[in-house]
Amino acid sequence: MTSPISFVAQVNAFFDRAAEHSDHDRTLLAQIRRCNSLYYMSFPLRRDNGEIEVIEAWRAEHSHHKTPTKGGFRYSDAACADEVMALAALMTYKCAIVNVPFGGAKGAVKINRRSYSVGELERITRRYTYELTQKNFIGPGIDVPAPDYGTGMREMAWMYDTYKALSDEKLDAYACVTGKPLAQGGVRGRTEATGRGVFFGIREALSIEDDMQRLGLSTGIEGKTVVVQGFGNVGSHAARYLVEGGAKLIAVAEYDGAIHDPDGIDIDRLQAYRKENRGGVSGYPDARALDHTTDALTLPCDILIPAALEAAIHEGNVGDVQAKIVAEAANGPLTAAASQALFERGVLVIPDTFLNAGGVVVSYFEWVKNLAHVRFGRLQKRWESQTHRALLEAIETMSDSRFDRAMFERFIQGPGERDLVDAGLEDTMATAYQAVRELKMQHGGADIDLRTAAFMHAIDKIVVTYENMGIFP
Ligand code: NAD
Repeated sequence: MTSPISFVAQVNAFFDRAAEHSDHDRTLLAQIRRCNSLYYMSFPLRRDNGEIEVIEAWRAEHSHHKTPTKGGFRYSDAACADEVMALAALMTYKCAIVNVPFGGAKGAVKINRRSYSVGELERITRRYTYELTQKNFIGPGIDVPAPDYGTGMREMAWMYDTYKALSDEKLDAYACVTGKPLAQGGVRGRTEATGRGVFFGIREALSIEDDMQRLGLSTGIEGKTVVVQGFGNVGSHAARYLVEGGAKLIAVAEYDGAIHDPDGIDIDRLQAYRKENRGGVSGYPDARALDHTTDALTLPCDILIPAALEAAIHEGNVGDVQAKIVAEAANGPLTAAASQALFERGVLVIPDTFLNAGGVVVSYFEWVKNLAHVRFGRLQKRWESQTHRALLEAIETMSDSRFDRAMFERFIQGPGERDLVDAGLEDTMATAYQAVRELKMQHGGADIDLRTAAFMHAIDKIVVTYENMGIFP
């Protein structure tokens, strides 16, 4: 990160810019902005070779205006208290923007996961969960972690299993963490949810004719060129949905290099290559290698998707960014100064607090499913199917004609869990984008960027919660 300003200060700069447009009580705004609790821990790990290493880790709970608090848990060798607190704050605003009833939190273990065996990762994750349980920093109604950078459903299964073994919470223990495998109470569609949400968010932005005209772009995803930095969970799923929607993936940047092909990169072939090459893209034979991985960020393209870590675009390289739209799939990939520079140049920045919220939206569905102890669609699937069949048969009888049988069979399908989760996610992302854009238009349209509008939207919602509690009149 080349910016001398801390990540917390970056997030607070965004918050302050939005707060300037509100007349809410200043003390209340100061309370909202502050991180409520931070738990720092260190513990020993016995490595496979017998040596002992000290591991550092954190969990920050930014806001308890709604509980439980919620947010990812990452493995990153760049993790520190500042990063965890900033990411927890972003979670608070994100949850408010997409209307899920959580305060924000974030956790991190300071390791590079590529340097540890699976057994070592399991020991680290279980010990981390033990520490959280001891200090009351995890639980279905307390704080609910989820996957983030470097972690996935395997880590969530370890966390759930450890929490269940240690806590008295026997009935609702499943809801202590989201992003779990299906057999451990996961929900269909969670793994790809953040990338899917990024796709829905970009699609919504691209559907607005006035905004696209200003950028010199046609509406719709079809034919748009896309560059993705970080081809992990979020980046690769977002790319796949965009390509399915008609976009062309022209470059991918990873930790070990970047590749470029103006005719389009085949995602399946690239993923097969990465599987054999520790997740890297360096040496991939079907595209041109760029000199530096960061060169991908400055390629001409319609949509640039930073989906790795924070501060990828900063004061030092923002001047070279040529994309018309920067879609923040990662958390905090633009510094405050870079974000402002892009806004002044007329680049559309779709902010992280909205765009990567798909993960927490579907995590919310998983948490609800765990507390309800029933799969979505289980009760109504058959009933809806029978109702649709009766309706279609009545239409056939009255019109004395028959539907095409394939069409008939499609219409009578009742919704399964995956359909309901996907529809709920799509609706949430579309509604939130329209609400944020509406607020931007109410404040002069061109005068404020989408990020400021998103923060204003979040602040208004959090203020209402405090006021309803009678804490601040
Ligand atoms: P991930 O670990 O699955 O993927 C990240 C990818 O970025 C990895 O493939 C890694 O090798 C690559 N990478 C690391 N350093 C890089 C560099 N310098 N240049 C290019 N690529 C690099 O993580 P993820 O879950 O996809 O998370 C990515 C971002 O999205 C993070 O900012 C995270 O906080 C955010 N996010 C994730 C979720 C989620 O549900 N997983 C939800 C919301 C936001």
